[in-house]
Amino acid sequence: MSRYADLILPLALHLRYTYSVPEALYGQVAPGMRVEVQFSRSRHYAAIVAAVHDQAPDYATKPVLAVLDDFPVLSAQCLKFWKWVSDYYCCTEGEVLMAALPAGLKLSSDTRLVLSPFFDKEDESLGPKERLATDALLIQQTLSVEDLQKILGIKSVMPLLKKLLDKRLIYLYEEMREKYKPRTEWFVQWAEAYRAEGAMREAFSAIDQRAGRQLEALMAFVELSRGKEEIPLRSLCEKAQVDSAIVKKLGEKGILEVYKKEVSRLGLDDLPGPEGPASLSEGQLSALAQTRTFFSEKKTVLLHGVTGSGKTQLYLDLMEETMASGRQTLYLVPEIALTAQLVHRLRNRFGNKVLAYHSKLNDQERVEAWRAVLEGAPVVMGARSALFLPFLDLGLVVVDEEHDPSFKQQQPAPRYHARDAATVLAKLHGAHVVLGSATPSLESWHNAQTGKFGLVTLDRRFGGSELPEMQLVDLRDEAKRKRLKSHFSTPLLDAVQEALEQKEQVILFQNRRGYSPLYKCPTCEWHAPCEHCDVSLTYHKFADNLRCHYCGFEQKLPPTCPACGLPGLQVAGFGTEKIEDELAIFFPDARIARMDLDTVRGKSDHEKLIQRFENREIDILVGTQMVTKGLDFDHVAVVGVLSADQLLRFPDFRSGERAWQLITQVGGRAGRRQKRGKVIVQAWNAEHPVLLEILAQRFEPFVERELSERKAFFYPPFTRLIGLQLRHKQKKVVDRAARFLADRLRREFGHRVLGPSEPAVPRVRDQYLVDILLKLERRGDLFDAARRSIQEGVVALSS
Ligand code: ADP
Ligand code: ZN
Ligand code: ZN
Repeated sequence: MSRYADLILPLALHLRYTYSVPEALYGQVAPGMRVEVQFSRSRHYAAIVAAVHDQAPDYATKPVLAVLDDFPVLSAQCLKFWKWVSDYYCCTEGEVLMAALPAGLKLSSDTRLVLSPFFDKEDESLGPKERLATDALLIQQTLSVEDLQKILGIKSVMPLLKKLLDKRLIYLYEEMREKYKPRTEWFVQWAEAYRAEGAMREAFSAIDQRAGRQLEALMAFVELSRGKEEIPLRSLCEKAQVDSAIVKKLGEKGILEVYKKEVSRLGLDDLPGPEGPASLSEGQLSALAQTRTFFSEKKTVLLHGVTGSGKTQLYLDLMEETMASGRQTLYLVPEIALTAQLVHRLRNRFGNKVLAYHSKLNDQERVEAWRAVLEGAPVVMGARSALFLPFLDLGLVVVDEEHDPSFKQQQPAPRYHARDAATVLAKLHGAHVVLGSATPSLESWHNAQTGKFGLVTLDRRFGGSELPEMQLVDLRDEAKRKRLKSHFSTPLLDAVQEALEQKEQVILFQNRRGYSPLYKCPTCEWHAPCEHCDVSLTYHKFADNLRCHYCGFEQKLPPTCPACGLPGLQVAGFGTEKIEDELAIFFPDARIARMDLDTVRGKSDHEKLIQRFENREIDILVGTQMVTKGLDFDHVAVVGVLSADQLLRFPDFRSGERAWQLITQVGGRAGRRQKRGKVIVQAWNAEHPVLLEILAQRFEPFVERELSERKAFFYPPFTRLIGLQLRHKQKKVVDRAARFLADRLRREFGHRVLGPSEPAVPRVRDQYLVDILLKLERRGDLFDAARRSIQEGVVALSS
């Protein structure tokens, strides 16, 4: 008998806590289940059972109050993975839990609840406690778990709440505040009177024989509803080729019951017609064969394929194999909001077997997705957080666009890299891994060069279309020859003009949103600072105000300079909004749209914008790095990069790599299928060696040089970097803490410790920031020691 359970609580605790299992719950508690417990004073939490055993700890234990699940909500591998993440990325298991579990699965005393808008006061299926809880919510609108516990006067309230949440009688308050709109659909079932066996015949005789359409509808219903209680009205109408009014007539006659109810937005109940596999090109076939060979050696495969070479097609085939062997696939993409196109492609092939998990799902949907994965959902596509889903048996992990920086989670903990974590997760399951990219990260490339990864290359576009022509335009020269019009060089304007005349499309890339990044006084050099961060505000013309891109602070335009009092404040620099504005002057007839954080805030804005571009309702799309990813258009003739210099000026050892990736990726959107596209890259410093290498589109010389520089200056992949950032409202406090931590680490690691130093933006949201950097040789023991030492240092700091 297991009399104790080690628990992970949804708190940043450095330890697991051991609770005792009361006799009444013997045999019901297993790893991966949730239990209700009390922790510190009278707070209740749903905690995850990490282990059960018979070993009494050396402290007095509190009892588990209730078991919330009949089956584990986490798989064993999942628990191991959480543990690995917390060790490797120096955070607590509780922090992993908080990031991983959907809110609906992590109840605590503070969780606030509301009644479902569909709650039926007359519902007779409610038990007395359920009735009491829903009555209280009817009166109070919103109550915390703690309130409900008091009202009900019971020791453990979570099992009841879980039941109400599962039945969708109550919701989390947070979710309702996000304006959760349940999706509803019409359904049809037999009316009560005809549900009995053999009653079907009576139903038919109840219809007037002249009502042919109704008969057809009823016949179709009989066929569709075989073995099912209810069917969607939509599919009935489709099948019977009748209008919904006909079915509703059957409802009025009391033969069928036609009603509306809430359905999932995950689309798992839709059944689009699956498409068969495409026949692969010779290049694809050989890439597939090589991949299988590496798989048999248990190697991670780096698939380096130019944009449009058919990588996705290969993933699909590998997924199908995985599915056939009964195992699950995780398909990771950088930002799922950007890949509606990809979801469609997957669904066309695999239909309702594809589950998309991303930040735009509401919590209810997230809980559903979680359950579906537990039940073995065959294909899960998701952004980085999908790593934490409770997979049972992963056979394949695909990391698409593996170079993309958004695989890295910066804030809050766990701060992890999804690409690296994915390979560990795969190992836990014995799954294969494919990392795909047209512009691999130098880390992965290095791993392929040293034989750690298998390298598979697709160097031609599918169907033989050519890679775009790249042209570098020297802005200094353009300006000298008076060919520069505002931010546009003559070659770029000409190319856009030509594309428009040919009825083709254009994408322009500018890595800055807003109108002008600088709003300044020409007399005294004052420029509008953010009140809460040490950065300048950006002018947004549409809203006619100044905004901070770090904290969102907004401010009206001062009429005169607040420093010297003189009028004549000016804007300088340019962002996407200004480009959009100016384009309208140069191309008054063109349909122009903008894609950046300011224009795609809503749930489906991004998808709509892409749809419009795909339907050719837009001629020119201006955007930030959002336009560089995951899009596959057929009619883009020209891609323009407005200011390549900006990309290289980033103070980061990866800036060259990043510039190369962005320019190559956005360029890859130009000219698919028949026609060769054109990419125009504008730069003030057109002699920059990195730019010349990028423009030459020769990958190897570029990587070789970058790698040799990394080696010379002790940067990854030749070393490991651990960055620590401290934050506090008071400068003095953060400085003192940083010195304490750095000194402590320096005693052990000497010159490997850099800092404390101020980051480029030393104050954000009223908090002062300080960085400490550890640069370690690639030795496992050193890395382990550093992580241990950091964890200890952090504990020492907080005591
Ligand atoms: P990548 O993922 O490398 O950018 P994709 O897989 O998107 O490339 O392929 C580019 C285009 O070529 C897509 O429109 C895709 O439908 C098409 N394509 C790729 N492979 C095949 C194939 N074997 N048969 C038919 N079309 C293909
Ligand atoms: Zn001034
Ligand atoms: Zn700010």
